Order: sequence, then C-alpha cells, then structure tokens
Amino acid sequence: MENIMTNRLDRGFFKYQKEFEDKALDVLRGGWYVLGKEVSAFEQEFADYVGAKYAVGLGNGLDALWIAFRVLGIGKGDEVIVQGNTYIASVMGITINGATPVFVEPDEYFNIDASKIEEKITDKTKAILVVHLYGQASNMTPVVELCKKYNLRLVEDCAQSHGAKHKGQTTGTFGDIGCFSFYPSKNLGAFGDGGAIVTNDKKIADDVKVFRNYGSEKRYYNRVVGTNSRLDEIQAGLLRVRLSHMQELEDEKREICNRYLKELNNPLIELPKIREGSTHIWHQFVIKCETRDDLIEYLNKKNISTIIHYPIPPHLSEAYQYLGVKEGSLPITEKYAKTVLSIPLYNGLTKEEQDYVIEALNAYKL
Ligand SMILES: *Cc1c(COP(=O)(O)O)cnc(C)c1O
Repeated sequence: MENIMTNRLDRGFFKYQKEFEDKALDVLRGGWYVLGKEVSAFEQEFADYVGAKYAVGLGNGLDALWIAFRVLGIGKGDEVIVQGNTYIASVMGITINGATPVFVEPDEYFNIDASKIEEKITDKTKAILVVHLYGQASNMTPVVELCKKYNLRLVEDCAQSHGAKHKGQTTGTFGDIGCFSFYPSKNLGAFGDGGAIVTNDKKIADDVKVFRNYGSEKRYYNRVVGTNSRLDEIQAGLLRVRLSHMQELEDEKREICNRYLKELNNPLIELPKIREGSTHIWHQFVIKCETRDDLIEYLNKKNISTIIHYPIPPHLSEAYQYLGVKEGSLPITEKYAKTVLSIPLYNGLTKEEQDYVIEALNAYKL
C-alpha cells in the first residue's frame, strides 16, 4: 500500500476541481483582489451557515482570536480561562493582548471540563475561551450559565468545529464572539490562510471590520490603531465553493469515522467518545493508547502516517515558561499529550485505505 497520510488536501480539491478553477479565474479576471464582493458574499453565507447575525472575514484564525479579545477590551491584568489541552494559537490569542491564560483540565471528550471552571474564577477573570477541540461541540450549557453568573465574556475557538452543534445550536453563537480559521487543513479550508469572527452584536462586528483594516472606517481616516488582517477575494470565492458542499463533506468524514468507531476493536486502543447532545464534525479522529509511541512506529512500518495533536501542551512549551505553570499541575492535559494520536482522516480517503488502516490498528499488539 502507498503511504497513507494523516491528512491530504489534493483529493478535496479534485472533488470539485472545475468549480474551484472557474471561481479562481473569475476572481482573477474581475480585477478586485482584497475585501470585495466575494468577501461580502462569503461573510453573509457564512453567518447564515453558523446561524449568527454577522461574520467578518479576517486573515487567519489567530487574528480572529486576538482581535476578539482586543475589541472586547481584554488585556493586561485580566485573566482568561481556557482548557489546558489546546493548540497554542488559542493561548496566543489571549497573551498577544497581555492577558493571562488560566488553564482548566479537559473532560473525557477532550473539551473543557465545565465542572472545574468555577474554582478558577477570580476577580481578575474577564472571559472564558471555549475550544471545540477536534471538531466536537463542548458542554456549553454550564459554561453559558457561569458566564452569566460572574458577568464574563464568552469567546469560542471554532477553528476545528465549523458547523458542530450543542443541543441544536451551532458552535460560535453561544457567547460574544466565535472565532474561525480557514487554514487549508480545517474542515472548511481555503487554499491559503483565512479566518473570521461571527457575532450577533452589531457593534462588535463593526469594530472588527474597522480593526482589520488599520482601524479605518473611511479610507485614510483612522479611528483606532488597528492591524492588517483582511481576507483575500480569491480565498473568499474558493471558500464559497467549499461552503456550498459542506454537508456532503461533513457526511463523508462522518461515514469514515462511524466505520472506525464500529470496526476498530483493539483493547490497546481507546476510541473517541461523543457527548450526548453534541455533534462531532470530525476535524480529527483522535485515539488514545498507553503505548502510543510504539504504536506510531508500528504504523510507520506499515506506511500509515499519524500526527499527535498536540505533543506539548501550551503551559509546558518553551514559549510559555514565563507563566510559571509547572509540569504536573495539569495531569489530565499532560497525560493526553502523552497518549493521544490522530489517525488518517480526510475527504477522499478510499474504502481500501480505510480497510487497511482498520486492519493494521486491529492487528497491533505489544
Ligand atoms: C488552526 C487553529 C487555530 C489558528 O488558526 P490559523 O488560521 O492557523 O491562525 C486556532 N485554534 C485552533 C484550535 C486551531 O486548530
């Protein structure tokens, strides 16, 4: 068997090749390349898809996060609660503004353990950042209640959860701002960088629109010191094509994962669990294994690639040593970093490849 990659993007492109190519040429020939009609149309379509009033296109997902906290006025001296086991960008979105991340352990679904949030709230806490990790919607009901009780802002990192729902409500719409990435490997991926925030608050949407373009409301009149984080026309156009096929793309991935859930039966491998009331859009299929590094080597020999999301939790990364959160202080987070493994999953993974992966995993022994 040819090497099976953990993720590959070419098959997703070829699936709709003609539509993507037509759209790209259309934009190129249109003569307008940044913040134009494709971006406006995408913003409207994406807001409708998520079920929010407004979407604002941005340069990438990290910008969506830090700009979210910036327009909410959260910075130096403020604390933001976030789960320990996340991609480092979630944490950078907080610290770029000078605010301090306060880490909470995850639950068995890899999302924030809502029952452990309250003990971390102090008089400096200004917001909770919920990350719907790997594509499964978090347990939002208790989080929303805590935000009301303590008057906290709620921001969602939906970089991995486009369209995932909790109790019928789409992630990104539970609080003040939902932050999205359209990095090529995400479930709604562009062909380069892209991101967006969604919100139901007109003032927030307007502030982000101004902020993304040098703080300028009207050309060359600058209200605030903003940044340059604009979505390209060509990316917005290609995202519109992909968005129009989201349901079938999501269904295809779910079908693969349902097979994995049904047919993987190795006692050495723990399968991901789905929370009652939440949907999972399967950004990643993440298993746990006590002998993970041995399993990686075994799969490598069989030409199956895997990735660890993520081998070093943010609090143990070199970049965040200054926070002084010591090893051992987040045992569940740290344990996940040592045992999780993402197995091959992408649109276009063939039946034969799925069979091969399932057989290999089931045949693994110590
Ligand atoms: C990808 C990702 C981001 C950052 O998005 P970029 O577009 O790469 O900046 C943030 N948070 C999470 C959870 C992500 O997976």
